Amino acid sequence: MEKITLNTPLRSALGTRSAAKLAEKLELTTVGDLLRYYPRKYDQRGRLTDLAALIVGDRATVWARVVKVTERELGGAGSGRRGQGRGRAVKHITNVVIGDSHRQLTCTFFNQYHWSKTLKPGTDAMFSGKVSMFNNTLQMSSPSVAIVSDGRTGNGESAAAIDVIESFPGGVIPVYPLVEGVTQTQVQHCVRAALDLLTEIGDPVPDVLLAEHKLVDLQTALRDIHRPRNETHLEAAKERLRYDEALSVQLVLARRRADARNFPAEPCPRIPGGLLDAFDANLPFALTAGQQSVGEVIATDLATIHPMNRLLQGEVGSGKTVVALRAMLQVIDSGRQAVLLAPTEVLASQHARSLRDVLGPMGRGGELDAPTEATAITLLTGSLPARARKQALLTIASGQAGIVVGTHALLSEGVFFANLGLIVVDEQHRFGVEQRHALRTRHPDGNPPHVLVMTATPIPRTVAMTVFGDLDTSTLSELPRGRSPISTTVVPAADRPGWVERAWQRIREEVAKGHQAYVVCPKIGDDDRSEMFEDGSTFDGDADSDDAAGAAKRPPLTVNQVAAMLHDGPLVDLRLGILHGRLPPGEKDEVMTAFAAGELDVLVATTVIEVGVDVPNATMMVIMDAERFGMSQLHQLRGRVGRGSAPGVCLLISEAPEGSVGRARLDAVAATNDGFALAEADLELRKEGNVLGTTQAGRATALRQLSLLRDRGVIESARADSIGLVGDDPELTAWPGLAEMVSLVVASENQEYLDKG
Ligand code: ADP
Ligand code: MG
Repeated sequence: MEKITLNTPLRSALGTRSAAKLAEKLELTTVGDLLRYYPRKYDQRGRLTDLAALIVGDRATVWARVVKVTERELGGAGSGRRGQGRGRAVKHITNVVIGDSHRQLTCTFFNQYHWSKTLKPGTDAMFSGKVSMFNNTLQMSSPSVAIVSDGRTGNGESAAAIDVIESFPGGVIPVYPLVEGVTQTQVQHCVRAALDLLTEIGDPVPDVLLAEHKLVDLQTALRDIHRPRNETHLEAAKERLRYDEALSVQLVLARRRADARNFPAEPCPRIPGGLLDAFDANLPFALTAGQQSVGEVIATDLATIHPMNRLLQGEVGSGKTVVALRAMLQVIDSGRQAVLLAPTEVLASQHARSLRDVLGPMGRGGELDAPTEATAITLLTGSLPARARKQALLTIASGQAGIVVGTHALLSEGVFFANLGLIVVDEQHRFGVEQRHALRTRHPDGNPPHVLVMTATPIPRTVAMTVFGDLDTSTLSELPRGRSPISTTVVPAADRPGWVERAWQRIREEVAKGHQAYVVCPKIGDDDRSEMFEDGSTFDGDADSDDAAGAAKRPPLTVNQVAAMLHDGPLVDLRLGILHGRLPPGEKDEVMTAFAAGELDVLVATTVIEVGVDVPNATMMVIMDAERFGMSQLHQLRGRVGRGSAPGVCLLISEAPEGSVGRARLDAVAATNDGFALAEADLELRKEGNVLGTTQAGRATALRQLSLLRDRGVIESARADSIGLVGDDPELTAWPGLAEMVSLVVASENQEYLDKG
């Protein structure tokens, strides 16, 4: 007989009918796909399902005892109901009540006469179907049934089902995630058949590593994840599979790093007497120790013959921009170009503006009064008018623009650089491994550029090791001197309306002192589209909506609404501006410029100001409906104030009641300025899915067992192992199984996972 391996098509292993169904419904095409379609949970045989826990509308498998069976013949031909959309007249209905004296569910079968013979009161069986509610009782319409209790025989179908269930060792029954049109029994059957047919398969992971980590072999793990004899075997199986998942991802990352190190790059050593020296000489402040040492590391990276791939982490306000700018100038001094990518247009134009300010005449290359060594700064955003865009593209292609500032979109737009030496990506969390890989490899016009990625979003270590695992990391941990700490206070709007009044009063006081303030709202205007995430990302996921629901039945406050209220009321004599993602680009820019110039006192805005906006004179921020934001996001937002020498104040206004989860999160934000602590807490509160990317039921995803939260140890060992393996053998030629695992990750939607920043 043909050898059955993980790569064997299900067609050859199980036959065309089963294979077609698995392919169509669950996107499973090989034996490996099926065996990696892990159970969602396990039922212990004899332990009946808690019917109270069922959710109406869900597909569920219920393990229950039959209480009562009734049959009903419907009247003569023509009067029968049409059942189940099958177009057949319903002549006969069987109602099978299952459950116990507390909670019951009625299964209804149409024209299936045999059930009254096979399902008797006292029979235990598994029922799979969609749960509905009718006349205040739980219902399942035509569920699939597998009889379990001993000593009863059914018709052919349930006899087969009995066979499957009886055969589960230790009575641990796997329960698979299902979609319409596939039953538990079918999946259980197919998995069992596949496991039985599977020939001895080689283990992709080297024995030494298995021994070192005390892991079971792959074949045992696959068997035990589906058909465990007991808890211990199941745990061992999970441990092995988690390790494999972590190892595949880490191998991909290790190879990415190794690849990147092998690319040639144009060395850009520091050249004395250039723009960088001139810039340093004019710097109005001394670099912090961190800026200095990170600067030296980067300067060395840039001078080597391989591209730099570095992540620069640093709290909001730690002065990352200066570090990046100095790197850009070093590259320009070597006759190459640098590009700075920002996540939003607002931020891109702010960057361009501040770079022009800081560089002064040195940044006015091409203009009459500029010194000869000066370079030009070109802003390229999607909203540039056609002619200006053409002009910008020209300066970039000619090499006249030393510094190009734009949004991330710029990368995908086929912009041609004369001589690109460095890409700086600001506020990296919406920019993934694959995009970075594309940056490094897409270089038709020469060697790949150096890459510096910056983020102010503190990244928990496990996330850093996976989502950013392809980068070397530096951290700026201190804030420049003279930075004042931000004090954050929760204002319970429901219990103490007076405090809200006081918040507006407080803004007036700040303005009277010559300062400025932000008021942040969750939404823009009257329509329904959520504006929490203006760029369409899901940076801070459901953690919000879950407990926001209890707090605020009314819709979230909008920029337009709040601005109007302030304008007509408490802030009537102040100069108010509005900023959000849907303003025309020109207007966004005007508002930002006016606010930066002090021509506006208060900016009412969405989270569009979340990243990077830098107006040192702004000392106060009021966040409306604060419980609707994630903790990390609140931390980012408040980082917009206290950037000058005056202390910053942040007020979190919320109707979340005392004792609610929402309120507890706000209290946590108020209690600490430690972004890392908040990021960890955020990760814990967030559903895992939001970190890993969404996993749809029924979709084959290779990362199913691994948790970034719980599996730090596994990820750390896998990382160390992968470095060793790739170091000895970059192409993994000695380990074809591992090479295959890697190509699976690369090919599969794990990209999505890797891309999730
Ligand atoms: P972030 O890390 O949040 O991007 P920025 O680079 O925008 O921080 O810096 C925040 C502010 O601090 C800017 O106004 C910048 O000019 C200022 N700054 C940066 N480095 C120093 C320093 N060493 N001493 C004083 N101010 C600094
Ligand atoms: Mg910044």
